[in-house]
Amino acid sequence: MTAAELKSDNPSFVLHGVENVKFEDRPIPEIHSDQVLVQISKTGICGSDVHYLQHGKIGSFVLKEPMCLGHESSGIVVKLGPDVKSDFGLEVGSRVALEPGMCCRTCESCKKGQYELCPHMTFAATPPYIYGTLCRYYVLPADLVHRIPDSVSLEDGAMMEPLSVGVHSVHTLGQVQSDQVVIVFGAGPVGLLCMAVAKALGARRVIAVDIQKERLDFAKQYAATDVFLPGPKDATEDLEVYTSRIADEIRSTLNIPERDKGAVDLAIEASGAPTCVQIGLAILKPAGTYVQVGMGAKMTLPVPLFHIITKQLKVIGSFRYGAGDYPLAISLVERGLVDLKPLVTQRYEFDDAKEAFEATKLGKGKDGKGVIKCIINAPK
Ligand SMILES: [Zn+2]
Ligand SMILES: [Zn+2]
Repeated sequence: MTAAELKSDNPSFVLHGVENVKFEDRPIPEIHSDQVLVQISKTGICGSDVHYLQHGKIGSFVLKEPMCLGHESSGIVVKLGPDVKSDFGLEVGSRVALEPGMCCRTCESCKKGQYELCPHMTFAATPPYIYGTLCRYYVLPADLVHRIPDSVSLEDGAMMEPLSVGVHSVHTLGQVQSDQVVIVFGAGPVGLLCMAVAKALGARRVIAVDIQKERLDFAKQYAATDVFLPGPKDATEDLEVYTSRIADEIRSTLNIPERDKGAVDLAIEASGAPTCVQIGLAILKPAGTYVQVGMGAKMTLPVPLFHIITKQLKVIGSFRYGAGDYPLAISLVERGLVDLKPLVTQRYEFDDAKEAFEATKLGKGKDGKGVIKCIINAPK
């Protein structure tokens, strides 16, 4: 076993219950066989971290024991287990992006290469797993610790987690092709990263739809070729009439045909808003692909089956990331095809973690600047 010199403590940001977080010193984790110990460098705050803080649960994932928050991290390898294969090219001092979900490797989903669907997944900062990456030391199997090139910063390394969500949605599931037309609903962090991936992989047009003008302004100078801000619903319209009117308005404003060349090939829904779900299904061309990655407030929504059936749409849900997603995310950044830097809007020291959560919750930092992604430095 090889190891760097370790510090003696493991300061951690731990959620005890709704709106109840504490800084604690937790034991430094032991590593076994094929695992590596990583000293965390940077951690991005995600909507899901904030959701656990505010509600203590997401769907069926319910906090029962104190849990360390954080899952979007980069770090430095400080210790390698005795069975870590040399294939991974890891050594003490390697700079890495952490893939924070451990699958079982034996179930049907794992065996078929769809490990994101593993029923035995243990995922950082997701109950019942009590470990997260807002701490000094974190353990993962070697295959989930992805080396990043020297040209890629540790901050970019932390952003590989949300970028992998974009890669999974747009590339792995949406199977975007060069010259296609892609529409993305929701210009938050995940939507923006989906736009960046679509552009990087050669989409002809990347259309951003959001109800906040500032978000669209950002999307336009970041990765979108076109933006659209839907007007409000008339009192007389029901949801279906409204959403087909908006789909028509998008087509006529941006000169998009209903079918064939130039029509919308791929819709990525990253807002979870019922209106966007309906507009997305309405605007797609026949045999187009619809990917749902946004998880809205409601679990059940009205869906226009007519569009799905008569256009034979392919409708796919997108959950986290799987085989090949992290490596492609890292490659896109290494080759300069995706620029993650403009997305980091605020930076905090570990002791100010609560402030980072507050800013993410409000969507605005103390500096008054809108939040896309807050990054927290690991404990000093
Ligand atoms: Zn996240
Ligand atoms: Zn499994």
